[in-house]
Amino acid sequence: MNRDGGDTMPGSKRITESLVTRIASRLMPADSASYRAAVGLVLRDLVELLGADACFLRHNDHDIGATILVAEWPPRRHVPDPDPLGVVCFRGADPVLAATEDMKDPLLIVGCETNCSCADTDVEGCATRTLSASGVSLAAVPILDGRITIGTLGLVKRATQPWSEDEVDTLTMIAVLLAQVQARIRAEEDLRRAAYQDALTGLASRRALFETLDERLGVDGGGPVAVLFLDLDRLKALNDFLGHDAADSYLCRIAERLSERSKPGDLVARLGGDEFVVVLAGSSPLEEAMARAEALQETVGASVVLGGRTVGRGVSIGVALGMPGEVDSATLLSHADQAMMVAKRQGGNGVGVFTEDMNEKGRRRTIIEMNLRTSIDDDHLTLEYQPEIDLRTGEILGVEALVRWNQSPLGVLQPAEFVEVAEATNLAGELGEWVITRACAQLAEWKREIPDLRITMSVNVSPVQLVSMDFDTTVRSVLRQFGLAGSELCLEITESVVVGDLQRTRDTLRRIERLGVWVAIDDFGTGYSSLGHLKALPVDALKIDQGFVRNLEYSEEDRVIVDSIVGLASSFGLQVVAEGVESVGAVRQLLDLGCSRAQGFLLSRPVSADRLRWMLHAGNVRLPWHPDLRTGTNAPKARRPRTGF
Ligand code: C2E
Ligand code: CA
Ligand code: CA
Repeated sequence: MNRDGGDTMPGSKRITESLVTRIASRLMPADSASYRAAVGLVLRDLVELLGADACFLRHNDHDIGATILVAEWPPRRHVPDPDPLGVVCFRGADPVLAATEDMKDPLLIVGCETNCSCADTDVEGCATRTLSASGVSLAAVPILDGRITIGTLGLVKRATQPWSEDEVDTLTMIAVLLAQVQARIRAEEDLRRAAYQDALTGLASRRALFETLDERLGVDGGGPVAVLFLDLDRLKALNDFLGHDAADSYLCRIAERLSERSKPGDLVARLGGDEFVVVLAGSSPLEEAMARAEALQETVGASVVLGGRTVGRGVSIGVALGMPGEVDSATLLSHADQAMMVAKRQGGNGVGVFTEDMNEKGRRRTIIEMNLRTSIDDDHLTLEYQPEIDLRTGEILGVEALVRWNQSPLGVLQPAEFVEVAEATNLAGELGEWVITRACAQLAEWKREIPDLRITMSVNVSPVQLVSMDFDTTVRSVLRQFGLAGSELCLEITESVVVGDLQRTRDTLRRIERLGVWVAIDDFGTGYSSLGHLKALPVDALKIDQGFVRNLEYSEEDRVIVDSIVGLASSFGLQVVAEGVESVGAVRQLLDLGCSRAQGFLLSRPVSADRLRWMLHAGNVRLPWHPDLRTGTNAPKARRPRTGF
């Protein structure tokens, strides 16, 4: 019924309006899944309310040049297979269907009483083409998307009266509605696709990944779900050297390879950046997941030709299994991520498996990540100091500041556990500044107490700090704040820094050098510093890695290495310090090889500032070996002035 009472409105108009309203309400809520069913009901309404015998909706697929049946009412009782009305190519179709390919106006066919040879009939008020046929009348209206005919809505009557203007109008209005609904559903589909598809590679998106995992893990029972977490090694370098476009093409090629190697039911997703995740279909035991991971490692690792250059990157893969009903998606992914990180830390291009032990580590890491910043701000960190000793006299030549963190609830944490977190979470600068400031403040305090104190304070510097622009400014202002000379501070950098960004490292070190601050290469011998690097950098000392010192007494190989490091230091005029001295045997060897400056548990463990103060008052540590040892065969190396190479 018409809301205005309806009396003034002609009956057919009323039908038209209520029909359109009803149809609109059927189509509005439709989405791509329910569209066909909604259209079926719409066709039924049309047949009933317009007193027709049949109704159909066809879709034009211009890519294949065919018209495709979407829905019909009433359904035919016997549909042959293949359905001759299903997909019909325009070319070769009967003239009526052929005419719907680019139809822009209604097409009306009025049936004749008999087999007469009647002429075309025009319906007044419509821009129509009419054809003749016998017994059956057809009204077909185009469904238009702009100027493109995307389908046909048709009404069929076993009658010979001409089509009324109202009937044609009604059909046209429904066709417009259908076009609108189709456009809306298409737009929704596009949005959905965008949300579920990674824009660069076309793989599943993070959202699609989570939905799939939620679904797979949500049901109780079934075997383990296997997740492989892939992270390409050193993609950043590719970005830097070849540019973002090349790196993007590279990622697309990797995505293709992952898709090609996937099995039916696997989900391959890109999480962003150079991280990909593969969820294996069905349930997978660990051996199978490992085998798949190893196969993918090989596939992804194979080189790619990009703009004439051959590029190869390793990939680190983490494998984690989760039982449905026992673990949620985020946890399972983070397990796979942790396993990947383990593979990465072991040098990359490998496969790691998640273990419960990692879970505990992951839990600790989360606590550390969440609390480190406030701990730095709130001074919950402390420093311990380990002296560097002259092996001949026991004299304390310097101290190394080593950071500790008294973390509740985890207890006292060693730097190995949180320095790396600081580097990964952009806190290395803050942590480093805190350490330098505390260490210099402490040295200034000891100097006030012991006026003739002459020692260097060594501070470990993280690679991130060293390449930060204003690092030397920080160092300068801290020295000034505590009234220290540059030569009272020594910065310890690791070889990895030296190998990493040579140019930048050199620039920063040069500025540090101008402050008179000493620079030592820590853990020397474990990295790849070549002589060339050493020459290029303003370095003053090498600290022989503990690994070569610990068993010096028993290992001929270590002896040869230490000997060559001492020789190298001597020829470049560098100080040499041995770390990790744990036995008198090692002391004997060191002195024999000409290294008299050392650090290690045998001499002193890292101790509190208070404890160290007493050691400094004494001036030396008590040497736990026979005095004869103190006269090493080689001449002692005095700390030389910087040579500058
Ligand atoms: P490192 O610079 O090589 O420091 C020496 C480490 O060896 C210290 O461990 C020290 O306690 C330990 N050590 C000393 N003598 C011996 C010995 O005779 N035997 C054995 N087995 N170990 C010995 P710690 O304090 O756990 O520090 C570990 C690493 O953490 C340091 O290695 C350094 O790379 C890093 N680190 C420490 N403090 C800082 C800091 O303030 N900033 C940065 N960036 N890193 C730091
Ligand atoms: Ca060190
Ligand atoms: Ca070291």
